[in-house]
Amino acid sequence: MASCKACGGSGVIVLDEKKCTACKGTGKAKSINLSELSEKQLSQALGGSCPICEGTGVVRVTEKCRECDGYGEIKECKVCGSAFNGDGDTCEKCRREPSLYRLDDLCDANGLQVGEVYEGVVNGIVDFGAFVDLNKKLRGLIHISNLNFEVNAGDTVHVQLKNIKPNGNLELIPRKLKSYEIVEVTKDFPRCVSSNLSKHVGKTISA
Ligand SMILES: [Zn+2]
Ligand SMILES: [Zn+2]
Ligand SMILES: [Zn+2]
Repeated sequence: MASCKACGGSGVIVLDEKKCTACKGTGKAKSINLSELSEKQLSQALGGSCPICEGTGVVRVTEKCRECDGYGEIKECKVCGSAFNGDGDTCEKCRREPSLYRLDDLCDANGLQVGEVYEGVVNGIVDFGAFVDLNKKLRGLIHISNLNFEVNAGDTVHVQLKNIKPNGNLELIPRKLKSYEIVEVTKDFPRCVSSNLSKHVGKTISA
């Protein structure tokens, strides 16, 4: 968490500073029409300072800082690393949209992470389930017991990697993501190291 650079942490941007017309820049409460003041302003006025400019003699024209949306501080999203404001550790987008990993053909099993959702293409249907290609090298299986809707060869599916068996077989579970953020993983992304993937959510990783 860091204080917003754009507004210096105040949450507002000062567009202009003008001499206070109510006190003519003196900051003193002399020529103020007391009948138009709020209670707080009235007590300021009675204390001798101009309630319009709070005794400063200048009136600031401000607008809410767009960078931090008026919060005055910028948080870094734990998932995508982008600046955001609001509650929690992740930006609204990451909270709302799960990541869908799309693997380059040269990515191998080192790039996989159990629990993540990948885009795949159904390669073939067999008695015990459906084979799904995550790329040209990586093929996994959705077991028939997990296949709760009809798939056909050639269908693009979203699959969650449930397990990588000791023999290298990939156990997949179908997932229907309504909304997601596609993360392209390419060969030049160093061996598709999965532990680093999360930092790159939301950015297209390219050669
Ligand atoms: Zn004033
Ligand atoms: Zn700001
Ligand atoms: Zn994010």
